[in-house]
Amino acid sequence: MRIRVGHLYPDYLNIYADRGNIAVFARRAALRGHELDVSGVSVGDELRPGEHDLLYVGGGQDREQLLVAPDLAAKGAAVQEAVAGGAALLAVCGGYQLLGRGYLGFHGEDMPGVGLFPHETVAGDRRMIGDVLLECELEPGERKTLAGFENHAGRTRLDAGAEPLGRVLAGFGNDGESGYEGCRVDHAVGTYLHGPLLPRNPWLADWLLSQALAHATGGEPPELEPLPDELEAQAHAVSAQRARDRGGRF
Ligand code: GLN
Repeated sequence: MRIRVGHLYPDYLNIYADRGNIAVFARRAALRGHELDVSGVSVGDELRPGEHDLLYVGGGQDREQLLVAPDLAAKGAAVQEAVAGGAALLAVCGGYQLLGRGYLGFHGEDMPGVGLFPHETVAGDRRMIGDVLLECELEPGERKTLAGFENHAGRTRLDAGAEPLGRVLAGFGNDGESGYEGCRVDHAVGTYLHGPLLPRNPWLADWLLSQALAHATGGEPPELEPLPDELEAQAHAVSAQRARDRGGRF
């Protein structure tokens, strides 16, 4: 199968291994005989719902977020329609913030959001930096851990009843207080975890690929053939230990 990926603002939102996350999707798809067809969707480009099986939005500093926010907000209805139509989506850090209702930056910059995720973000005066470990249950009864690195000034508050991506075992998470991290709507996942997210959490890459394949075929999400993932497991273990040792402290 050909998996059509729309990479939003690759020229602006691209800090901390965002290209690496795309490389993981491409490699893990190829090892199962699928081909990733990645196209950039940037400022002024049209986003047509249904044309992508997977959307990706990376991280960025407030400066880059400010540059893309109005354009992304104008694409908001298309992003929502794509996700409602079953497309998978991964948004990391700056992209995660802008997929909510909005982000109030450190210098008072008021950035409009897409409104896909039921949350709002306001920058605080101390950055939340460090390793993070989460427990997630994207499929009922299947608990998995997600290890990563966070670096954000934004405090993201989920609306009551919103579904977080996971529970924080170590680290700050959405706002350093709620005990939750990220957000999930249908097959869309937003998270602060990067640096790099998918190489050390291959199960999440496979979950998103499987949802993207379901969108591409119009069928059920396929069971992907397991890969050895020895290095990935080691990377996850090192990152998880670092989070347990020193995550979530100013
Ligand atoms: N500028 C945002 C913040 O500091 C996001 C930063 C990022 O993507 N690392 O909260």
